[in-house]
Amino acid sequence: MSAIRIAARLRRVKLSPSSTATDRLAQLRREGRDIVSLLVGEPDFETPEHIRRAAIDAIESGQTRYTQTSGTLALRQAIAAKFARDNGLHYDPREIIVTVGAKHAIFNALSVSVEPGDEVIIPAPYWVSYPDMVLACDGTPVIVPCPETDGFLLTPAALEAAITPATRWLVLNSPSNPTGAAYNAAQLRGLADVLLRHPQVAVLTDDIYEHIRFGAADNPHIVALEPALRERTLVVNGVSKTYAMTGWRIGYAAGPSELIAAMDMLQSQSTSCASSISQAAALAALRGDTGFLPDWVASYEERRDIAMQRLNAIPGLACYSPDGAFYLWVNCAGLIGKRTPAGGLAGQRLDSDLDVALYLLESAGVAVIGGTSYGLSPYFRASIATSVEVIEEASRRIAAAVASLV
Ligand code: PLP
Repeated sequence: MSAIRIAARLRRVKLSPSSTATDRLAQLRREGRDIVSLLVGEPDFETPEHIRRAAIDAIESGQTRYTQTSGTLALRQAIAAKFARDNGLHYDPREIIVTVGAKHAIFNALSVSVEPGDEVIIPAPYWVSYPDMVLACDGTPVIVPCPETDGFLLTPAALEAAITPATRWLVLNSPSNPTGAAYNAAQLRGLADVLLRHPQVAVLTDDIYEHIRFGAADNPHIVALEPALRERTLVVNGVSKTYAMTGWRIGYAAGPSELIAAMDMLQSQSTSCASSISQAAALAALRGDTGFLPDWVASYEERRDIAMQRLNAIPGLACYSPDGAFYLWVNCAGLIGKRTPAGGLAGQRLDSDLDVALYLLESAGVAVIGGTSYGLSPYFRASIATSVEVIEEASRRIAAAVASLV
């Protein structure tokens, strides 16, 4: 008998499908396969120069030691200023914690608040990590399907139906990974009205894509619309996507002080604090010039339009038009039931979006992620955080692979 035993709650957790797909992509490329990847979950821009410079200055000026567990006061002040400026939310630096990415903030929040039997409502399609984080904390993910007819958004009726006495949290992600769908003020008002009737439900908003919005859309926050929710909402955000800083690992959260204190306690016993150097860089990001952002967003929008135009021209595929983020959510219902041609996967029936993703990978050398991984089928997610050339090549390959289905 082995001395090593993995805890039962973790045996229910699986590896993130995006990491699995990225590992498989790397393996196929090592084997010499020519694969075009639409997997990327991060901006393809460099971290801006003034942010990199701030990190170098931090190293050179000796900011190389532990910081306060919850992050430097200067950074928490800058985060408070950001919430006031961008979201109309007002937090004291004591109500803010800096974490090792937004993912870490969500994981810590669930870790300190979820007990066995507690339910966490997750609208689907969802970011792949939410359900598994809930499972890792011994909670029960309650997946609420949000179909295309509802714009992939949670409706007040669906929320009301999902709430039970055991509900602890509702997770809201706007704009969403994977669909790019974003709530407008009226839709959030509807959800807030339901929440006001259920005071036991806390709300976790994951706003990581807030600045990647297309068109003239504003960016309403449910707490700004309904201040009564402030005392039971955790607002999660970070610098990864807005500032092209995924590798710097800085996220943050603001919320009720007892929740932040518990997260601080857990952090003090686990990571101690986020990297001091990355915190200095994040401070420069939040305080600095964001003149580069409109250009970046325009570039994502241009790529969205090209990718949508190419993919929508393929019989059997239909793209949802995203309000933000940098993904396309592609309906592939028209391919389900078709058979693969002679060759590698000869004569196999495509029974699910996972089969479609596998077929595109094996036959066309295009990497996408099947919608099943995000809790809604039949779709696949294609990233547009890549060059126009890659998008054009991927589209050509997908068109040819789909045309040869029988
Ligand atoms: N939330 C969503 C919806 C995401 O898509 C991601 C990253 O893919 C994260 C959170 C994690 O962000 P971070 O890099 O800050 O941990």
